[in-house]
Amino acid sequence: MKLKGKQVVVIGSGVGGAGVAALLAGEGAKVTVLERNPFGGGKAATLEKDGFYYDTGVHWVSRGANGPLGEISKLAVGSLDFCAPDPAIQLTTGDKTIQWARDMGDPGEIDKMLEDIGVLPENMKGARAFFNKLTQLPSGKEQEKIDPLPIYDYTKEFVQDRQFSRLITGLTAMAVVLPRKDASAGEFVYCFSRSFASGSMSYPLGGAGAPPLDYLRRLEIMGGEIYYNRPVEKIVVQNNKTTGVEAGGFIPADIVISNTGIKETVDLAGPENFPEAYRERISELLLSLGAVTVKYALNKEVVKPHLFYYAPDFRSHPELEDKLTGIFVTVPSLVDASLAPEGCQMVLAGSATLPGLEDKEMANEFCEQIMNRIENTMQHLFPNIENHVEWKMRTDTPYIAGISGRKTGEVIGVAQAPSQVGEKRPSHQTPVENLYLVGSDAGGRGVGMEMAADSALKLWRSLRDGEYN
Ligand SMILES: Cc1cc2nc3c(=O)[nH]c(=O)nc-3n(C[C@H](O)[C@H](O)[C@H](O)COP(=O)(O)OP(=O)(O)OC[C@H]3O[C@@H](n4cnc5c(N)ncnc54)[C@H](O)[C@@H]3O)c2cc1C
Repeated sequence: MKLKGKQVVVIGSGVGGAGVAALLAGEGAKVTVLERNPFGGGKAATLEKDGFYYDTGVHWVSRGANGPLGEISKLAVGSLDFCAPDPAIQLTTGDKTIQWARDMGDPGEIDKMLEDIGVLPENMKGARAFFNKLTQLPSGKEQEKIDPLPIYDYTKEFVQDRQFSRLITGLTAMAVVLPRKDASAGEFVYCFSRSFASGSMSYPLGGAGAPPLDYLRRLEIMGGEIYYNRPVEKIVVQNNKTTGVEAGGFIPADIVISNTGIKETVDLAGPENFPEAYRERISELLLSLGAVTVKYALNKEVVKPHLFYYAPDFRSHPELEDKLTGIFVTVPSLVDASLAPEGCQMVLAGSATLPGLEDKEMANEFCEQIMNRIENTMQHLFPNIENHVEWKMRTDTPYIAGISGRKTGEVIGVAQAPSQVGEKRPSHQTPVENLYLVGSDAGGRGVGMEMAADSALKLWRSLRDGEYN
């Protein structure tokens, strides 16, 4: 498609929306981004309070400069930078703690990691075979074969070992935000084989919000526009074709790209404009789990390392079962000191929950309970943390829904379940002509932000190459 001079409206400035906006502006399209929040970045946004910069979620990036987030910045001539510490992450499961090296392509590192995590000697061969698989990118055929398998079933073919299973449960929760039984093995392998190959698990300098802000800056430099506090009320459809959007007035467009989520896009455009089979498929889509977070602004450096996953050992300590929970913790100020005042620390701790908000009372109670457990767990690990709190912020699933403008507070979006990945992932293209989807819900692969960036890259290429004409 000839994109030069085309009027493009992008609804939403999440990683996917901001990314595709910058890439299309680079093709000479006249791009306008309409964002309902007063800030850019959606679920990846980074905000400021009293000199501390906090991510609205709890973010780390699987491939940094070598992945799709870095690729968009390079293509749009941005200035995004990442920090990739080594070891990359600390993982504690059961009563064992391991350091995960930045370069996991080395078989020696894999053996050491499996021994340290407590895989039984008789199970080492199978566990090693599984991780060795992750040191090579799967072929297209292999990928197709494992996409429809749950990771739970796939790993059983290699080995059954308690500590190995706990490790895979933790990795699945971190990368795909689903229980092992619900997550696609193909997506797991896709995420980790690429992370291993890149050797660059990292954090964006400036916070998780740095990539989308980098793209939006480039968009403006290339003549595009971004309007904040500008919710789109309606996607206008005439004769099965979109002609623009209503956002405090009609804004005409040749192409409308929605970053609002697939379910929300159908509502904005009017369900009557979509065939019944499409509506049914959309209503049946599973979503990833939600999350709650506790953000700590500390007046002293209390928490280390910069990134860790901690799953308590309830078998050895049953008395902790009602008090603690598994947590994913990032300390952005340990890799980018500008994110907290001198000598202070910004710490973000999160845990998975259900995304649904149907029964609000139950959802609130559940979120409260998990947030209490996060605080207990942090205090269990860092007994003096409460003495150094400048401020603390608790966020629940309605908070995530509010940030992303979606109905529910899931971490990623359409779940990377066996029936919803690869070829079966919702397409960018919708049944409404000139209306496309971008972001975690459509067309991409990988871990959260990178999946949204991958979606932006693929949509840009498809539009540029005329695939949808
Ligand atoms: C707690 C938490 C932890 C996470 N951890 C990680 C991690 O460690 N690593 C990782 O890679 N990913 C992580 N993620 C996931 C990652 O943040 C998301 O997958 C990604 O940012 C989603 O980007 P997106 O482009 O799909 O859009 P979103 O971020 O959902 O953005 C959509 C945008 O559209 C706007 N919008 C919606 N409706 C309208 C409307 N009607 N009009 C105008 N604008 C509208 C919204 O305001 C928003 O800005 C985490 C997410 C959360 C919540």
